[in-house]
Amino acid sequence: MKVAVIGGGAAGFFAAIQVKTNYPTVQVELLEKSSKVLSKVRISGGGRCNVTNQETSIKLLSKAYPRGEKLMKSLLNKFSSEDIRQWFTMRGVPLKNESDGRVFPISNTSQSIVDCLFKEVEKLGITLRLKTNVTKIEEVDSQLKLTCNDTIETFDKVIVASGGSPKLIGLQWLADLDHIIAKPVPSLFTFNVPNNSITELMGLSVGNAIASIQGQKLKSYGPLLITHWGFSGPAILKLSAFGARKLEELNYFFNVQISWIDETNEEKVIQAIIEAIKDSPKKKMANNNFAQLPQRLWDHLLEKSEIPNDKIGLELGKKAINKLAKSLSSDTYTVNGKTTFKEEFVTCGGIDLSSIDKRTLESKSCKNLYFAGEVLDVDGITGGYNFQAAWTTAFIAAKLGG
Ligand SMILES: Cc1cc2nc3c(=O)[nH]c(=O)nc-3n(C[C@H](O)[C@H](O)[C@H](O)COP(=O)(O)OP(=O)(O)OC[C@H]3O[C@@H](n4cnc5c(N)ncnc54)[C@H](O)[C@@H]3O)c2cc1C
Repeated sequence: MKVAVIGGGAAGFFAAIQVKTNYPTVQVELLEKSSKVLSKVRISGGGRCNVTNQETSIKLLSKAYPRGEKLMKSLLNKFSSEDIRQWFTMRGVPLKNESDGRVFPISNTSQSIVDCLFKEVEKLGITLRLKTNVTKIEEVDSQLKLTCNDTIETFDKVIVASGGSPKLIGLQWLADLDHIIAKPVPSLFTFNVPNNSITELMGLSVGNAIASIQGQKLKSYGPLLITHWGFSGPAILKLSAFGARKLEELNYFFNVQISWIDETNEEKVIQAIIEAIKDSPKKKMANNNFAQLPQRLWDHLLEKSEIPNDKIGLELGKKAINKLAKSLSSDTYTVNGKTTFKEEFVTCGGIDLSSIDKRTLESKSCKNLYFAGEVLDVDGITGGYNFQAAWTTAFIAAKLGG
């Protein structure tokens, strides 16, 4: 039996290794169109490779996938973050957790991961073919004919691990096999807030913000960072991932509402302000930063609420208190445009999950063809979840239905 794995990324390498492990007598060829492999593994996590996330609860892990949550929930039961940790550790690459949940090799360099995958491919006798671009797949007499560069080669089974494509046209060769393609749109980006004085506070962050899209059911929690072009940080990146399709429809023009103090109930915030004033009625409002926000942000919000810095709490009228409560709990900004989060970006979209058998990841329209990695309409938020999806789907596809 001859098996081809298309794509020399994380999913392709892991799938090829698993096929050869499951079926030692099979001839496995790993086909990569460029002259380099594992490019994203090398650069991810600032060159340290964020292999997975420390979360071990499958329920919580799967919630990190705006697309593919249900599929990942069932597949992670078969190959989880614990399994990939063990896999690398057993091969001499121990991993460590960081405080934000990301998992890296203890060596702190992605080269350890790259070397480990290469060593395994070599040890198992997998053929790695660079500069081999697959442009067409045809099903003929229950075999698969691949157009590799300009020649046609025949395989018994094929795993497509060609990664995400930012453009629909890049997936046409797979659409030609009657797969439904979920339109590719970007995920994991930051929000541009042009011509707004908030950007003068670039570099400031709050630990527990709530960000939501006005008029939509999209909300997220977590640290929020003010940048020189707008907003970033986990709360915003999560919102961009869960809202990837909707925000594209809105042409990245919408209002974002921010609660800087982890509370969106305006009435409760009004009470908190009244309490803070009661405690120190003669304190200037600039010094009554009861929510312990970064001071420059507190000053900015006072100014936005038209409260002079030197006004004492006692002098604050109901209207001013209401205004401050609004600025703290539902501060609204117009977002116009997005910026790619260069540390990690993924494509939402790809092979629609209705086109595959969810147990085996085999194509429903083309027998003996399987999918793994970002080519599927599965993507996660930041934190190692995207690599985890690559390892897990590769592990399942490599069973080749068995
Ligand atoms: C800058 C950056 C940083 C990232 N950081 C993180 C991170 O910290 N944590 C995390 O979890 N995720 C991260 N990601 C996302 C993660 O890298 C991807 O989700 C993951 O690499 C997807 O793996 P893959 O094997 O499916 O696809 P890819 O890694 O994209 O590999 C696909 C391979 O297939 C080849 N190929 C494509 N078409 C063909 C063809 N027709 N014939 C032959 N070969 C083909 C490509 O050249 C490529 O080598 C990051 C992404 C980027 C861009």
